[in-house]
Amino acid sequence: MQRKALVAANWKMNGSAELAEQIISSLTDVTLDCEVLICPPATLLHCFSAQDALLLGGQNLSEHESGAYTGELSGALLSAAGARYVLIGHSERRQYQAESDEMICRKLQQAVAAGLTPVLCVGETLSERQQQKTEQVIAKQLAAVYAALPELLQNSVIAYEPVWAIGTGESATPEQAQATHAFIRQQLMAYQPTAANAVRILYGGSVNADNCAALFTQTDIDGALVGGASLKPAEFAQICISAKGTKE
Ligand code: PEP
Repeated sequence: MQRKALVAANWKMNGSAELAEQIISSLTDVTLDCEVLICPPATLLHCFSAQDALLLGGQNLSEHESGAYTGELSGALLSAAGARYVLIGHSERRQYQAESDEMICRKLQQAVAAGLTPVLCVGETLSERQQQKTEQVIAKQLAAVYAALPELLQNSVIAYEPVWAIGTGESATPEQAQATHAFIRQQLMAYQPTAANAVRILYGGSVNADNCAALFTQTDIDGALVGGASLKPAEFAQICISAKGTKE
């Protein structure tokens, strides 16, 4: 089962139409051997609509299909705006919006029902890592979705994002990240072995142009979810150039 490298940009609540233009032009003249997914604020998705070479994603979606949920965006609305992917369960949403595993599971179902590929974000906090609870925490986050709904795995991307590495400048080492990615794949084997081999597992947490190549050489690291560095056109292009090929 082949896994094509994927680099995803999470702009969070940043960016502008000008930045979209700069990112597009920084990626235009380079030869890429990976897929590139841009998750800007939903109001900027239209800036990329003419870019067939780029995949688009939302950063969140409602757990409901439609209705009286002021300010929310459904999977269908994101899809109509050009998104094909959607981030779900980012640690900032788990923390600031109190998203529970149960809510995240409902969001995944909505995403798949709307034809979007969910990028499920999982990861441990610093204190959980210090207490050696990394695997326990991640196993629970994965089980909340895939134990109940293993069929969703074939439509998913997973992003391992240690919370202590997000926006801190302190990335996991390639060895630390690989160990957790291998654990994630092994956990998923219990739910859907074929899909577990095929699912792309991205690493996220202070990925930059200097540390990406060593991360990408790891067996179970199939790409990156990039926050801060995705707002820097030249650096983001460099990360995309470094993500090459397919893994089996
Ligand atoms: C993120 O927010 O998903 C992320 C990985 O951020 P950063 O690259 O800035 O650590």
